[in-house]
Amino acid sequence: MPHKVTLIPGDGIGPEITRATKRVLEATGIKFEWAIETIGKEAQDKFGAPLPGHVLESIKKNRVALKGPVTTPVGTGFRSVNVALRQGLDLYACLRPCKTYHGVPTPFASIDIVIVRENTEDLYSGIEFARGTREGDRLAKLILETTQIKVKEDSGFSIKVISETASRRIVKFAFEYAHANKRKKVSAAHKANILKFSDGLFLAAAREVAREYPDIEFEDVVIDALCMRLTRNPQQYDVIVLPNLYGDIVSDLCAGLVGGLGVAPGANMGDNIAVFEPTHGSAPKYAGKNKVNPMAMMLSATMMLRHLGETKAAHKLEKAIANVIAEGKSVTYDLKSDRNQPAATTSEVADAVIKKLKKQGD
Ligand code: NAD
Repeated sequence: MPHKVTLIPGDGIGPEITRATKRVLEATGIKFEWAIETIGKEAQDKFGAPLPGHVLESIKKNRVALKGPVTTPVGTGFRSVNVALRQGLDLYACLRPCKTYHGVPTPFASIDIVIVRENTEDLYSGIEFARGTREGDRLAKLILETTQIKVKEDSGFSIKVISETASRRIVKFAFEYAHANKRKKVSAAHKANILKFSDGLFLAAAREVAREYPDIEFEDVVIDALCMRLTRNPQQYDVIVLPNLYGDIVSDLCAGLVGGLGVAPGANMGDNIAVFEPTHGSAPKYAGKNKVNPMAMMLSATMMLRHLGETKAAHKLEKAIANVIAEGKSVTYDLKSDRNQPAATTSEVADAVIKKLKKQGD
């Protein structure tokens, strides 16, 4: 039986990296039945909504999706469809493995960190009040009445919301992941010394959940200290669980440590649904140039294969990608130590990975 998967190529560089990824996935010999869907600007023009209901239905039905990046208009237009998709499907956990592959130009070796980011709340709750609006003024008044703090009249507000329920759920996810993948340590990052009622709640929930997993080491770490330690000794970290905004920033930081966005895969997971996508965005300036690295999306596809129970194929595909990186010939510009060296195109990377897959056999 083929695996039924919703495939969202996205926009910008999305379609070309999706094409390359689909080719390598099919070269593993695993059969897929793709439901190809559109979201973002193209969907807005075609269906009148950037995230049409039928796309959500397709993902709910198939329970697995592979997604390319989608552009969010800056300042005006629709809100991020990526955020809406995660919230709409309650994909509360964002999983981002950051691993150094031999041959990637980076000063760091032997990093193998998994970032678990809370995906549904924090400063991404979408609760905002613009400067100079009636609602903003009312909020300023409430703040003055309840805290005696007078905010500047020209202030805008973005509200940070952290709940015990979501905190417990994400920390539990991190420990379950650690347990299932034989990981030894979970670190929870926060700023509870300053943000007592939001991060403080997250930390208290994390400590409580950690007690249920005595076989896995637990530590908490203040977010600024985490960033400093990650750049000095990243090997000390294993699984890191964070609220939404810190998770967003730290996963890009860790992607940088292991060689950049071109090799940073990801997944957004709920209890029954998983959407696999690279960490990077749609890089519009490279769109259609057949130039960018498709490996972050290919590595996201290996995560999808594991999720589908196709462990052998996942291992084969990851090994083929790792071999192409180690060889260093058929890699895109971002994996060249000297960016002036000739580099492979997006589609040539797919050709090279497929060649390795064929050579590896079963
Ligand atoms: P970006 O990740 O798209 O690109 C930043 C830079 O990183 C690029 O200019 C390029 O130099 C490099 N880069 C990214 N992907 C690469 C790849 N595969 N290979 C080689 N180099 C790569 O970030 P941005 O420019 O801030 O965002 C562009 C758009 O993407 C925005 O509209 C943003 O909202 C959206 N976005 C979408 C997602 C998503 O769909 N999940 C995630 C992040 C950003």
